[in-house]
Amino acid sequence: MTSTSNGKATDAERTTRGAGTTAVHGDGTRRDEPYHALATPILQSATFTFRDSDDVASYMAQKYRGGAAREEYGRYGNPTVAQVEAKLAALDGGEAAVLYPSGMSAVSSALLTMLAPGAHVIIGDDIYRHTHEFCLGFLKRYGVETTVVPMGDYGALEAAIIPKQTRLIISESPTNPYGRVVDLARLAEIGKRQRVRTFVDSTFATPVNQRPLDFGIDFVMHSATKFLAGHNDLLAGVIIGRADRMAALRESRGLLGGIVDPGAAYLLDRGLKTLGVRIKQQNESALALARYLEAHLAIERVWYPGLESHPDHAVARAQMQGFGGVVTFTVRGDRARTSAFIDRLRIPYIAPSLGGVESLIQQPALMSHYDLTPEERLAQGVPDNLVRFSTGIEDTADLLADFAQALATL
Ligand SMILES: *Cc1c(COP(=O)(O)O)cnc(C)c1O
Repeated sequence: MTSTSNGKATDAERTTRGAGTTAVHGDGTRRDEPYHALATPILQSATFTFRDSDDVASYMAQKYRGGAAREEYGRYGNPTVAQVEAKLAALDGGEAAVLYPSGMSAVSSALLTMLAPGAHVIIGDDIYRHTHEFCLGFLKRYGVETTVVPMGDYGALEAAIIPKQTRLIISESPTNPYGRVVDLARLAEIGKRQRVRTFVDSTFATPVNQRPLDFGIDFVMHSATKFLAGHNDLLAGVIIGRADRMAALRESRGLLGGIVDPGAAYLLDRGLKTLGVRIKQQNESALALARYLEAHLAIERVWYPGLESHPDHAVARAQMQGFGGVVTFTVRGDRARTSAFIDRLRIPYIAPSLGGVESLIQQPALMSHYDLTPEERLAQGVPDNLVRFSTGIEDTADLLADFAQALATL
């Protein structure tokens, strides 16, 4: 296997390279231009110029023949954005990726593009709350119907499919906050047999831990705000899949207008370079903390797909390289005692979001689910003593010591 010093990695090299290498080098293309810069240039330009009218004419001819190799206007594309998209596609093993200014922008734009009045969508019951809300509250106004099926009930999923009407099955794996894991091969098989496309929100896993496209899933989505960017400093979202389908999303993005700023795209590329080492550390700390908490008397229950006690542990072990950085648990006691425990921790910040280098903690009853009554929260599976912890990249021993001191004084 040879490649020239300035060439592109060979196909064989690309398929054997690990996620850590791909996160640094993308698809292996070496770039010398512009200015021989190693770092990705931030092309902070709203528009792109033409040399003369002949240049315009040849660009337009190329564009309408099916694609030009340059940019025209910032809402349709930008070279910095395109470079990050190529890296994200390589990481998840997809043909192409489309980047959006947030995870929800990716979800809403993709669904508005793929669905039309009369269409039917199936979603898992443990899906990201706002994706759920977008389907049931928003798409309904445009004549799209949604059926919610219990996570992991493949019989109910098949029964919910309406021939010729169901267009999409939307799932998440692992889910928020309970880390439920969907059997990706099984989901893909159902989709292919029933001619329904499958869409998996893989935010909690990252391509280091799991690649849904390898199992036959059609679309992978990430809130890149979380682990992919990894530094709690930007919002972005991405969809990855087959080239023709991504071309359709790219076109609708130009119409809907949700494109990422080149500065944010640069920061995402910068964050991605350390993805491999960050996820390794987060996997390790989260598993150690989950085991520690499971054995602690002040803790009622722990949900982490890496624990043998988790309902989906066997599936997770079979299809994941690591189990991710989010640990969810209930404290033995009421809402106030749970808050007291959180307030005694010294390392994690109290904040929504997850996946960054800083550990974050939140009590959903006080934050993400504050607007609900205690009864509604319980019906959604969010008791008052529930805690969601997102592991950062601090030393595992320091995190364990911090939890030990906070629980000892409870
Ligand atoms: C955060 C999150 C989203 C939404 O992403 P934003 O970047 O906040 O818009 C979607 N799915 C999951 C699983 C998330 O954690």
